Amino acid sequence: RRPYSDEVNRAKNAKISNSPTIFDKIISKEMKADIIYEDDVCLAFNDIAPQAPVHFLIIPKRRIPRLQDSEVDDKELLGHLMLVAGSLASSRAPQGWRLVINNGVQGAQSVYHLHLHVLGGRQMKWPPG
Ligand code: C5P
Repeated sequence: RRPYSDEVNRAKNAKISNSPTIFDKIISKEMKADIIYEDDVCLAFNDIAPQAPVHFLIIPKRRIPRLQDSEVDDKELLGHLMLVAGSLASSRAPQGWRLVINNGVQGAQSVYHLHLHVLGGRQMKWPPG
């Protein structure tokens, strides 16, 4: 399993930008991903470097780099992501899960396309690293 520190380094080197990311290629199916759910608004796929037995991402099809780049018009989209997260997570990790948004440099965000991490299948610790 890829160590978490790699992810932090990747995040430190990532550029905050509005340009297309690898997630756009996953949305357009140019790049393969282990997709577990898709609708008109969002896509969910298993993380390529899972940090827990259950670890998948939910991304909006509309590219929003960070949470603060969302707009009032995105209210429905953001609510939709939460509803999808709750539904997928409760069936895949019935004993509980964690929902995470890594945001910005100190939040250890490495891909500047908003995404919800759902982690579960093991006991989560607090505080997170
Ligand atoms: O939240 P953050 O930006 O750090 O996370 C990006 C996530 O996207 C990582 O967990 C990474 O493993 C995942 N990823 C993926 N498939 C890719 C590229 C990144 O699942 N092709």
